Amino acid sequence: MSTPSLLILPGDGIGPEVMAEVRRIIDWYGDKRGLAFEVSEDLVGGAAYDAHGTPLHDDTMAKAQEVDAVLLGAVGGPKYDDLDFSVKPERGLLRLRKEMDLFANLRPAQCFDALADFSSLKRDVVAGLDIMIVRELTSGIYFGEPRGIHTEGNERVGVNTQRYTESEIERVARSAFELARRRGNKVCSMEKANVMESGILWREVVQEVHDKDYADVELSHMYADAGAMQLCRWPKQFDVIVTDNLFGDLLSDAAAMLTGSLGMLPSASLGAPMENGRPKALYEPVHGSAPDIAGQGKANPIACILSFAMALRYSFDAGDEADRLEQAVEKVLADGLRTADLIGEEGRSPVSTAEMGSAVLAALDSSLA
Ligand code: NAD
Repeated sequence: MSTPSLLILPGDGIGPEVMAEVRRIIDWYGDKRGLAFEVSEDLVGGAAYDAHGTPLHDDTMAKAQEVDAVLLGAVGGPKYDDLDFSVKPERGLLRLRKEMDLFANLRPAQCFDALADFSSLKRDVVAGLDIMIVRELTSGIYFGEPRGIHTEGNERVGVNTQRYTESEIERVARSAFELARRRGNKVCSMEKANVMESGILWREVVQEVHDKDYADVELSHMYADAGAMQLCRWPKQFDVIVTDNLFGDLLSDAAAMLTGSLGMLPSASLGAPMENGRPKALYEPVHGSAPDIAGQGKANPIACILSFAMALRYSFDAGDEADRLEQAVEKVLADGLRTADLIGEEGRSPVSTAEMGSAVLAALDSSLA
């Protein structure tokens, strides 16, 4: 097989700082594990706007369509706040997601033991938590027509439409079942079938896909409001949760906060398989460009590092190497290293972005000893 290709888009603010640490880790895999990548780098967001007057140049879009995976840092910043909506940094990211048709958004909520006290929930509720939320990303109420604000009589009315086709539900359900097979083999599907027709269809299609092709995976259904409660009450009952765009937006943010800092949260957005069998894929930390700390060496690179671990697992079929990287992160945290965002009451002194990167590399080295 040819060398796998990666397009790196560091973006704005802390994006380039955290991505620099990931570049060192990518090099480590080439040097120490014989897992070399053909890496190219380009601009996105405000950086692309500064260079080309657009948040994503057509050539960059074309490259993103060709590579095996895209790894993105973050976009945005106060400098770009007054730009026209059509050229705002976020439009670059939205264009990537739309044109690559990335319909399944994977948001893990994983709680490293060393950070369990960082959660707003009790330690025993979150320690060792490892769940995955699969959110449908390209349809549903954020895209459905009709939409808009119009006047009826003497008042204004706001309208949005929740709309799902069978095929849209089926493909995201398949992603969730495939994922579950590589994890705890359990899927919980969440909707509001009690009050929404789109929820009734969602439940029926997920069940049909299950019965036809994934009967070996344990499937349950839950109303999304009950799901939100259960996520706070006992999140460890879940393995993979699959849900629509709107509920997924809310539930994934709630689940993320079970685990503490924004600086720890990776994500993946996957589309249909390409000719080589790999899915179209974009990996990125959940956090933004953090302009308040940009350029100060304070950013936590772990979310971006764990996003690369997801790329190893979901794009490059290197689950063992993804485990190795996640364990290296776990070891560094267990050893007590913390960037500033992970300092709680205990008053440790924080390490810098680069020191955190170096510590992860040292832990990777020691995994080979
Ligand atoms: P943010 O995620 O950038 O920052 C929120 C808070 O978390 C800040 O205090 C920041 O310092 C902290 N933080 C975030 N990531 C961190 C990290 N890795 N290490 C340590 N601390 C970290 O969200 P925001 O402040 O609302 O938005 C800032 C800019 O980022 C805006 O322009 C926004 O539009 C953009 N944004 C981009 C994305 C993206 O690229 N996917 C996501 C969210 C926000």
